[in-house]
Formats: sequence, structure tokens, C-alpha cells
Amino acid sequence: MSPPTPEARPHIIAIANQKGGVGKTTTAINLATALAATRQRVLVIDLDPQGNASTGFGVAREARRAGTYRLLSGDLPLTRAATETEIPHLSVVPAGADLAGAEVELVGAERREHRLADALTGAEGAAGAGVDYILIDCPPALGLLTINALVAAHAVLIPLQCEFFALEGISHLMRTIERVRARFNPALAIQGIVLTMFDKRNNLSDSVAADVRGYFGDKVYQTVIPRNVRVSEAPSHGKPVLLYDVSCAGSKAYIQLAGELMRQPRPMAA
Ligand code: ADP
Ligand code: MG
Repeated sequence: MSPPTPEARPHIIAIANQKGGVGKTTTAINLATALAATRQRVLVIDLDPQGNASTGFGVAREARRAGTYRLLSGDLPLTRAATETEIPHLSVVPAGADLAGAEVELVGAERREHRLADALTGAEGAAGAGVDYILIDCPPALGLLTINALVAAHAVLIPLQCEFFALEGISHLMRTIERVRARFNPALAIQGIVLTMFDKRNNLSDSVAADVRGYFGDKVYQTVIPRNVRVSEAPSHGKPVLLYDVSCAGSKAYIQLAGELMRQPRPMAA
């Protein structure tokens, strides 16, 4: 997709997969950084109570009190819940410990599936944030937080780890996407599927990649994210891998993924 046109700005992408540890947060952090490096203005919304994306960007604990929880409560507008990062053109709505209560509290809330979408509309929402892309880092579940992301987003980006049960888990996510389309957000599209933690020494990685491509066709990005130790080290330094070691294989892959995403035509709901 060429960078979003003014009227389509920002393009909102939910990064979702109910399995934990498949590379959602790593993809959110590093795709955001790679997009920002091309001068696209990017906002990451940390929707996971574990706050791994906030940690990965080095957001201080104090700054996390004004974050996603208060955004969903309607207590803070997006323009105030977002914090700058040390990376130019990249800001983040951080998640603090308070977000852990949201999944339960939302159950009884009014417009419970629309809280994030509502927070992104209006002058103090996405339009006021002045960004080209919003990436939403979802928690590892298909509960109300992830539903809120799917209702607010234009498209879903699905990281898929190259392992044996990869396709099985995804059918549950696909059914959830269908339900969200039917009830709340008919235009929700699949942005793409990105294969993560690919291990070229492991034949299983190849066969899983072939299966996924056979099933999802050109929805699967050509770029494959390799398993790379530098990628896993970077968060403990509070940095995206692109800032930690720009020349490692993981950084190169995320730069390539950002390029593919920016060249993609705007995805449409199937
Ligand atoms: P999720 O957000 O889906 O739970 P994460 O992005 O947090 O998954 O990744 C899970 C773990 O795997 C983290 O410790 C992360 O650093 C590590 N990891 C993610 N991608 C890679 C990769 N390409 N190579 C090596 N380690 C990775
Ligand atoms: Mg995560």
C-alpha cells in the first residue's frame, strides 16, 4: 500500500493471534520502527496488560498510568494518552497494570466492543493524533480487548509462528474475524499473514510455511521473519531490534516487511 492518502489516514492495523509467543509484540514494535524510519508517522497502542510493547519501547513505569486503560475508560483522549518514544515519528499509548482489570470491567460497560473505536473517532482521536499508521498490539486471547481492536481496525495483521499447530490455531481467529465483520465492522480486512521465527535449519519450518502459503495464497507476505537471537535480546534493552542491531537478519526482515506493507494495495474485506 502506498502510504495512506490524507482521507484514509491513519490506516489502523490490529496485530492479532490468540496464541501467546508468536511474535505479535515483536512485530508491532519493529514494523512500527521500520515504518517510522521511512518518515511515516506511527502510533502503537499497547492493548496487552502485560505491557510488553511499552517495555520494548522503553516507556517508563510512571508514564504508563496515562495509557490504554484510561483511553478505553473514556477518561483520556487519544491525543493525551499517547507518549512520544525516543524514535522520531513514533509514539505509543502504553499499557500499565491497570489494563489487567479492563477485560472484566468491560463486560458490563456500555458499547463494550466499541470502546477503542470510539476513542479513535473525533478530533481528539485518530484524526487529531496526526499519524499515518496505528498499530494495535493485541493480547494473547480473543476476549473483549482483542474484539475492541478488531472493531476499531481497518485490517488485521496475523503473525504466525512456523510450528506444527500454526494453522489449527488460526481457524479460531478467522471465525472471530467473521463474527466481528457480521456484527460490528463489515469492512474489516486481512492485511496479511507474516511467518515468524522461521528456522532455516528446521525442515518443519519449511513445510509449515508451504502449508500456510497453500492455504492463504498471496495473503502471506513474501518476507519471512527468521528466528534471530538479536531480536529476542533487544526488548531487555528497551529498544526495537532496529535500534539495537540494525544489520542483523531480524532487522533486515522487518525493514523488508515494512516495504512490502507500504507497497500493498489497501486491503478490502473478503
Ligand atoms: P507475542 O506478543 O505474540 O506473545 P512476542 O513478540 O512477545 O510474542 O514474542 C515471544 C518471544 O519470542 C519473545 O521473547 C520475543 O523476544 C521472542 N521472539 C519474537 N520474535 C523472534 C524472532 N524472530 N527471533 C527470536 N526470538 C523472537
Ligand atoms: Mg505480546
